[in-house]
Amino acid sequence: MEEPLCCCEYVDRKGERNHLVACFCDCEDLDEGCERWLTCKSLPPGTLERIADTIADRVRVPWFTGAVKINISLVPPLLLLPVFLHVAALHFLLALVILTCLPMVVLWYYYLTHRRKERTLFFLSLGLFSLGYMYYVFLQEVVPRGHVGYSQVVVLTCGLILMLAALSRAKTDPGYLPSATSNDKSSCQVMDLPSKKVTGSSNGLHGVTTSGATSGRAVNGETKGYSRLSAEEPEGIKKDWCTKCQLVRPARAGHCRLCGRCVRRLDHHCVWINSCVGEQNHQAFILALSFFMLTSLYGIVLTLDTVCRGRTPFVALFYCPGAYSDYSSALSFTCVWYCAIVTAGMGYILLIQLLNISYNVTEREARLALRDNTGRRLLGGLVIDTGQYNRGFLCNWGHFLSLGSPPPQRSAEDIV
Ligand SMILES: [Zn+2]
Ligand SMILES: [Zn+2]
Repeated sequence: MEEPLCCCEYVDRKGERNHLVACFCDCEDLDEGCERWLTCKSLPPGTLERIADTIADRVRVPWFTGAVKINISLVPPLLLLPVFLHVAALHFLLALVILTCLPMVVLWYYYLTHRRKERTLFFLSLGLFSLGYMYYVFLQEVVPRGHVGYSQVVVLTCGLILMLAALSRAKTDPGYLPSATSNDKSSCQVMDLPSKKVTGSSNGLHGVTTSGATSGRAVNGETKGYSRLSAEEPEGIKKDWCTKCQLVRPARAGHCRLCGRCVRRLDHHCVWINSCVGEQNHQAFILALSFFMLTSLYGIVLTLDTVCRGRTPFVALFYCPGAYSDYSSALSFTCVWYCAIVTAGMGYILLIQLLNISYNVTEREARLALRDNTGRRLLGGLVIDTGQYNRGFLCNWGHFLSLGSPPPQRSAEDIV
């Protein structure tokens, strides 16, 4: 056995033992990059990425069992958000530039991580820190002005707590299917989560189909979906077989490239919670979004009412002559605009989600239907109706509210 790591030692990404003191030494890519830069040669492809990976691997803090890696994507929001908001509060034009650029930078970073198929804590950290910071500004700058009542602060705080509770629930297991690659491959037997056995690759595809289709029915409780699937069995198998997880997915499940797992009734991978939204956490996700919208709107109204006395919130948002008369109200007004932009974005996401639920279609199904040209665009393209699971508004919502709770008839079936 190797001797244990001291608090400043760690095993690096190449599997070698390393020490924190040596974090500035020995980066071949950086050395090569500098040399090429000094001699005006172009960098070989991927060098910048490798340098970034090396830096990310070396940002660590000493710990009892060896130096622990800090996720550097956590850091930028903590430093940059307060700086940007304080600078934006200096002048109206600065606010205009910063509040226009900030969402664009965030969107650019989103597409970058999406293209590289990377999971990142940046968005979760940005979201949570924004919430905390907005609440701090509200308590520090708005409440002392004396126009906000004690009960209003309590309501806002409760909204925040409820939202965080729903968020932490949404962060739990979205309904991952057990991946065969994480188990012993030779056994070829994978347990599907609703305690159905799904046979793996070497047993041939026929044994797989029936159980795969059955579990698809059990999960959705939709018998019509099941018969449709059995009628088109050969097509269905190919579509439902996940080569990465080596399993047959139940109907509506999908593989997430970022999590590297299959998720039951996959909706989408949400960067803001750094997790998938699937059968198990979709309700909590919608709840968290709703609490966020309500709390944020309430905070915006209370702040505008303090900063711009006597105007309606909507008018005050666009016309508030005294907002920049002192720094405190300027900062509050800037934060209101920041909140308004974030809330508008989240409101759009929530609207799409509610429409999707009303038509019983997931983001993933809508995307696939668009690609294969099999869906019907409704409400100006806001929602894509695949017609596959749509059973009418009330039934669709009933189905959504029952997600994650096991259907009563399943236990009897499973025993057989
Ligand atoms: Zn998969
Ligand atoms: Zn995912």
